[in-house]
Amino acid sequence: MASQDVSGGTGGCPLVVCLADEPAPNAGRTSAYHSYLVEILQHAGLFFSTVPPADLPSALPAASILVTCGETTPPNDVREAIREWVLGGGSWISIAGLWNLEDLFGVRPRPAVTQSSFAAGAVSMGEGYLEPVDKAHPVTAALNSPLHFFNGRAVEETGCRVLARALDAHRKGVTGPALTENGAGSGRCLLIAPDLTGTVVRIQQGVAITRDGVPAPDGSAPVSDGVLKSDDGLVLDWDFDRDEIPGVPGLRAFLRPVADLWRDLLVRAILDCAAASEVALPLVWFHPEGWEAVAHMSNDTDLSDPDCAEEMLNTLAEAGIRSTWCNILPPYPPGIIERMKQAGHEAAMHYDAISEGRGWSREEFLRQHSDISRALDEAPVSNKNHYLRWEGDTEFFEWLAAAGVTLDQSKGASKTGVAGFNFGTCHLYFPVAPDGRLLDVLELTTPTQDLVVFAPEELVDALIPRVREVYGVLHLLFHPAHIKKPPVRQALLSAVRKAREAGMEWFTAAEISRWERARRQVRWSGYAREVDGISVQVAAGAPLERAALMWLAPSGGEALLDGEPCASFVTERWGRRFAGCIVDLEPGRPVRFQLRG
Ligand SMILES: [Zn+2]
Repeated sequence: MASQDVSGGTGGCPLVVCLADEPAPNAGRTSAYHSYLVEILQHAGLFFSTVPPADLPSALPAASILVTCGETTPPNDVREAIREWVLGGGSWISIAGLWNLEDLFGVRPRPAVTQSSFAAGAVSMGEGYLEPVDKAHPVTAALNSPLHFFNGRAVEETGCRVLARALDAHRKGVTGPALTENGAGSGRCLLIAPDLTGTVVRIQQGVAITRDGVPAPDGSAPVSDGVLKSDDGLVLDWDFDRDEIPGVPGLRAFLRPVADLWRDLLVRAILDCAAASEVALPLVWFHPEGWEAVAHMSNDTDLSDPDCAEEMLNTLAEAGIRSTWCNILPPYPPGIIERMKQAGHEAAMHYDAISEGRGWSREEFLRQHSDISRALDEAPVSNKNHYLRWEGDTEFFEWLAAAGVTLDQSKGASKTGVAGFNFGTCHLYFPVAPDGRLLDVLELTTPTQDLVVFAPEELVDALIPRVREVYGVLHLLFHPAHIKKPPVRQALLSAVRKAREAGMEWFTAAEISRWERARRQVRWSGYAREVDGISVQVAAGAPLERAALMWLAPSGGEALLDGEPCASFVTERWGRRFAGCIVDLEPGRPVRFQLRG
């Protein structure tokens, strides 16, 4: 087992995170939303501690891995503490920053184009693509295509090993290194030069929507349609970020979850550093029971036709799943709503900001939420907007939060050629406001609408393996209004079966939201080296059933709960060996999670 000495065996966390301060206004910046790093790592379920730069000299001696985000010039004592720690064996992963320690990375800042650039600041990488050079390296092993980025810290190599290089926005020229690795003393430094946090935020959320987007050049995605909707704001590239759907010549979809792959790259870098130093890292897995991925179906009740609703209820019963019904106004008759709820389906909301007399405003949204709550006899906790309507930036998330809606599905595909991961993700995420505030609504994007009607059935065959690869959520939308068409009904049944065969269980949005929010309240403490292994305390802030606690166990070993091998298992994630246990966590009853052997 790992022989890492951790703070006298009593408490230091081996993974330390440090965020550079945001630069002053008007100073050029090469990265954005540094605090989103914390959101990314919390979603990954990792145990880490966040310290300000000034506290690094006291925090580093107990740490094995340091992840920093952003560029800064630290005070001398901080800089020398980092240097000494790295030379002594620490692993430093830096996102878009050199911290005046470029020699440790084996790079140097790329000089400005001219000596007299006005307000230039650090030289930015602009928009581009990360292309792996070493495709066998564990950090880049999941990438089979260049990865789109926005901004970053431009550098030149002076002795590092280049794991990936940066291509320009047209994928024509190489602009410099994008991912580098360098040994320094007994330690190791990885530089992720692109702005990982800013890129994830920009891709997941898109840009503010004030007018129509630009359609795809192949005619498959005419988003310029006079209706403002979420995919008017997408920032991915029609040519470079879409791939042909296997079995459907000529039809391209966003089959690569680009934002998830950026998150994945960071997690792989952390795991690589941990494995190389033989450090065991604990995490709480994304999904219950340790499922690699899960599935979700939503049903938008457009037209509220009772006959179609009956047909959908019967079809879902045959499929054996519970789904999330996004209810529009005017609502179904009470008998249908009663059947929907009795069958265990979630009664959710479908905000309509397009029909005659129903506009896009906070007042109108809250009015509809109130009317739908009355019709459903309960307040819906998830929502999808009719036509995926969207205006502005993140204001809508604040309306949702004000109404107590905890999960939204309005970021998605409104046209066939936009299908897939057009917001780069199949994971739940908390969005961030332009001023950096994290907003208390989970977004689960809608990558397709009714198979057969909206996109060919082959799309689901292409989505399932990609969702599994990044351990995400497969979300399919079917409208009751289309379910009487036999091929659509068959496609629904077939998709449910295929997801199950791929190891995905089906959950409602309310279930997914509740579980994720409870998972985020897991608190770790007391990472301690013991005679025959490592242990850590795990405390729940809310009930979390069937949670999978896992150790990255590079040197083998068995996972134990309070000294017992309770429902323990060994599995592989991100190409690494993990040992885990399944546990029902309850507030007030912390457990001791150990790796022994
Ligand atoms: Zn609708």
